Amino acid sequence: MEAYNNHNSDKPTGAELPLGERDQAVIWHPFTQMQTAPLPIPIVRGDGALLFGEDGKAYIDAVSSWWVTIHGHSHPYIAERIYKQLQTLEHVIFAGFTHQPAVELAERLLPILPNNQNKVFYSDNGSTAVEVALKMAFQYWHNIGQPRRKVIALEGAYHGDTFGAMAVSGRSAFTAPFVPFLFDVEYIPAPVAGQEQTALDQLQALLSDDVAALIVEPLVQGSGGMVMYEPDVLDQFIRLARRHGALIITDEVMTGFGRTGKLFASHYLHEQPDLMSLSKGLTGGTMALGVTTCTQEIYDAFLSEDRYKTLFHGHSFTANPLACTAALASLDLLLTDETQASIQRIGQRHAAFAEQLKQKPGVKNVRQRGTILAFDLDVDGQASSYFSNIRDIAYNFLLNERVLMRPLGNVLYVFPPYCITDEQLDTVYAAIEKLLKHLHEDL
Ligand SMILES: *Cc1c(COP(=O)(O)O)cnc(C)c1O
Repeated sequence: MEAYNNHNSDKPTGAELPLGERDQAVIWHPFTQMQTAPLPIPIVRGDGALLFGEDGKAYIDAVSSWWVTIHGHSHPYIAERIYKQLQTLEHVIFAGFTHQPAVELAERLLPILPNNQNKVFYSDNGSTAVEVALKMAFQYWHNIGQPRRKVIALEGAYHGDTFGAMAVSGRSAFTAPFVPFLFDVEYIPAPVAGQEQTALDQLQALLSDDVAALIVEPLVQGSGGMVMYEPDVLDQFIRLARRHGALIITDEVMTGFGRTGKLFASHYLHEQPDLMSLSKGLTGGTMALGVTTCTQEIYDAFLSEDRYKTLFHGHSFTANPLACTAALASLDLLLTDETQASIQRIGQRHAAFAEQLKQKPGVKNVRQRGTILAFDLDVDGQASSYFSNIRDIAYNFLLNERVLMRPLGNVLYVFPPYCITDEQLDTVYAAIEKLLKHLHEDL
């Protein structure tokens, strides 16, 4: 040990320090300014909607740990299924080979998706599920000998952090350093209330024979600030884009698996997408897995005696049997009457609390879709030094109330696992009310 430590002698040696400090010595966290970030909070255990800190504090996970945990933490049924699979087959190369969990998962997913979806392609996460959808779309046009180059996306979109996914995301501080390296994408406004016609007009103006695809987060734009819009205008987008032959990609990485009140946001639509991206809730939040689905027509464009028409894409862990098993177990739970009733219950409770929120000073744009409740803290005309920090103030205040929420700027949202109890939801609502009172008193 000593020899290894020689040229690193200023580095902490580990075990005797608290976990947060050991972390800080060796780890670089996502979306985190490491210079100013406080020490991370060590979590030692999760159970249902609760996360337990090393210090014994219990936090209500009101963000489903970045939108993935749908049945709660450390679910015993999912754990048991993964354990059994782990003892049987942990992994196998997925080119030239297959296995029961991957086949069964595809067989069970397709019937619950819009019924034009016919094939399942596996990858590792939401960003890769989007990359694959984009590559399928571009190569579809290439393979049929009518190359198209343009993609249309929504302003404020978030589709992931890899290059293709970043390219179709809205331009922001997140993408600024990379803009020179991103392919060109045309944007239209999100069709929020009052902006529908403008968005439709802009879409109309941009559509041409060169548009390969229109990509959207259906009904709720997540990272962009839980921006919500109606199914009707998305149906109009789809019909308009189809008239010019464009393929439709719905990125349901966040909205899938019950989050919007239906199994998929696409189920609110009359029209159907050509390609779909899924991840996050897919495995109940236990393991990394991504899925891209497509229509028969897209799949058929890759069938050929010509090897060059192959979709040359894959990952080492494609269709990992453990992840597929977690997804199967999660689907079992999701489709129970109990979980479905819980999703409706959360929606109803959110709706009732939304009515209360609308009466409160300092609150704007209260909105809800299914299990997602969001609103803006009204920071207009407030002394900016305080309110430019509003995100951190709200985050810390709520954490102090033992509620984990991660405001997106001045947007607060509740995004709980479906197993959250009424009592825990009350605690979350009460913490929000306390925060609002605190902010109001500080004016
Ligand atoms: C989170 C998210 C992604 C990216 O998924 P990762 O698993 O984080 O790569 C893509 N699209 C949407 C809509 C998302 O919310």
